[in-house]
Amino acid sequence: MSTKEELKSAVCREIDRHSDEMIAMAQTILENPEPGFREIKTSRLVAQKFNELGIPYRDGLAITGVKGAARGGNEGPTVAILGELDSLIVPDHPKADPETGAAHACGHHAQIGMLIGVALGLIKSGVLPSLAGRVAFMAVPAEEYIEVEFREKLHKEGKLSFLGGKPELIKLGEFDDIDIAMMTHTTSNPEDRKLAVGGTNNGLVVKQIQFIGQSAHAGAMPHKGINALNAAMIALSAIHTQRETFKDDDTVRVHPIITKGGDVVNAVPADVRMETFVRGKTLEAIKDANEKVDRALRAGALAVGGKVRITTLPGYLNLMQDPELQELYRLNAISLVGEEEVGQRGHRTGSTDMGDVSHIMPALHPYAGGAVGISHGSDYLIQDYQLAVVNPAKAMAMTVIDLLAEDAAKAKEVLNKHKPHMTKQEYLTFMESLLREEEYQG
Ligand SMILES: [Zn+2]
Ligand SMILES: [Zn+2]
Repeated sequence: MSTKEELKSAVCREIDRHSDEMIAMAQTILENPEPGFREIKTSRLVAQKFNELGIPYRDGLAITGVKGAARGGNEGPTVAILGELDSLIVPDHPKADPETGAAHACGHHAQIGMLIGVALGLIKSGVLPSLAGRVAFMAVPAEEYIEVEFREKLHKEGKLSFLGGKPELIKLGEFDDIDIAMMTHTTSNPEDRKLAVGGTNNGLVVKQIQFIGQSAHAGAMPHKGINALNAAMIALSAIHTQRETFKDDDTVRVHPIITKGGDVVNAVPADVRMETFVRGKTLEAIKDANEKVDRALRAGALAVGGKVRITTLPGYLNLMQDPELQELYRLNAISLVGEEEVGQRGHRTGSTDMGDVSHIMPALHPYAGGAVGISHGSDYLIQDYQLAVVNPAKAMAMTVIDLLAEDAAKAKEVLNKHKPHMTKQEYLTFMESLLREEEYQG
């Protein structure tokens, strides 16, 4: 019977020995970026690696997800390691696909490198018989909430219930056999140092908006028209007038775009489309801001005597991390990079669907350095793969050992102390309750 420390060093040795293979995997994905629910090549690469490692798996989950598992020597809880498959679309990124504009400007390719690293380390080191429980390896689709129209189409065709990968996997029951979930995201923020723990994230809802007016000759008879672009303009101004009512602590973000401004220049615009996210730190804050945005949208339609169709779609829930898991990861991070290189995260106003997972089970979402540039920008690149792939793979594998060694005593303790915010059923009911369609005639 080996001690936890012996198991950890065996795993880390194996991860070091295979670091080239993990980094090569990440770099291959960097060269083949695919946005959410289109990660065909990326998911095939993961499946290939699972085959090589002898990990039984299922693929095609939520279209492109791949889920495998390795068993310990005894029965016990299941800890999942997640890696996100999807890229963004940033056409001027140096690694962008020239045809689709897809690019890894959020570092998710590094996450797949880590996922494979944890699997390699745990399997090849031979530590699994000393663990109680299972380790699930989940390559998950579509973390970035983009291409809403394309995903709406998949939704209408019955291929998706939700437009994000993890919510869809929760709905499909792929988290039913998972007790604890963890992943590590890359960061380019120097304050995060080499590895960072802690932090919360905003949640969000997504809105698709259509202003409907009446077209008429823009020069000869504009008085016969109803100008939908003017309705949108008033709605945008009305949204801005709400900002002074948002509480600083709620970190509300509303950032609309116009995706269609009219059809032809010599006719009064009669069909104008907008999209926006409404983000906030708590569900209450999101609900409050969302009602104000709806009011502002109706105001636009009212002013011109037009119509507005508002579709509100469930987005992502705010992230809440389990303190026990954070502490385990933090101690492992310190042993890898030293205390002065471990950062502590505050609240982030972006969003992630790991927030959804964190509502139904203990979850962990730390950060690994090694990236440079602005997140989601054309200059976001992984500069140091040792920091971005190898270190976090070790930190996660070590945390798995903390949880599942010694008859999974620590995992059982985490699960005993943790009070999930929602059951899966409550989560699904809540998400479905967010879906709303409204038509308002001004
Ligand atoms: Zn991102
Ligand atoms: Zn990301």
